[in-house]
Amino acid sequence: VYLKGVTAYGFKSFADKTNVTFVRGLTAIVGPNGSGKSNITDAIRWVLGEQSAKNLRGARMEDVIFSGALNRQPLNYAEVTLKLDNELKLIDSDPEIEVTRRLYRSGESEYFLNKNKVRLKDITDLFLDTGLGKEAFSIISQGKVDEILNAKAEDRRHLIEEAAGVLKYKKRKKETEAKLAETMGNLARVNDIIFDLE
Ligand code: ATP
Repeated sequence: VYLKGVTAYGFKSFADKTNVTFVRGLTAIVGPNGSGKSNITDAIRWVLGEQSAKNLRGARMEDVIFSGALNRQPLNYAEVTLKLDNELKLIDSDPEIEVTRRLYRSGESEYFLNKNKVRLKDITDLFLDTGLGKEAFSIISQGKVDEILNAKAEDRRHLIEEAAGVLKYKKRKKETEAKLAETMGNLARVNDIIFDLE
């Protein structure tokens, strides 16, 4: 999946609507310390469903909303949209995929796929095994290389499974097992009722 661009509004230091376009090949983002370079990768990870404020270098999720600056009032919500190509035909036949996440100060959170409201699960399922999940290798931050080298064997296996594309099936297996257990429970209850009636 090719990331074509990111649009951020109200996310961290992006008080104004900011568009970053990625051309084919290599894009370098340069700027002084604290100018917001890492905020761009945070924004990408956030849209892909990051749920940990700590992983976004904040204490609470609300910290991603622009908190004001000299002569700038804080904003009430943060919104980030990723524009991706749809060469893999992840959804229908649209040439592009747009994924949006919005968070209000009230804590209300919304996700959109091509402007239609969806659940977080729809987004994580869509990108599972594409290499673009929130924990995928598309974003390698400072320290990540060391972390992978020093990881426990099981954690490293998890990474390899995601890369190899088996994670999706493991997740579905888990979901199916949960459904199966629920059905067994229901069946037991029905049998109890039948027993009572007989
Ligand atoms: P470095 O090179 O030091 O890593 P950087 O260019 O990657 O810097 P970032 O870490 O992306 O910079 O940006 C940090 C800036 O974002 C800080 O100036 C911080 O004040 C600002 N910032 C972070 N969260 C918010 C927020 N919620 N509201 C306003 N500004 C924010």
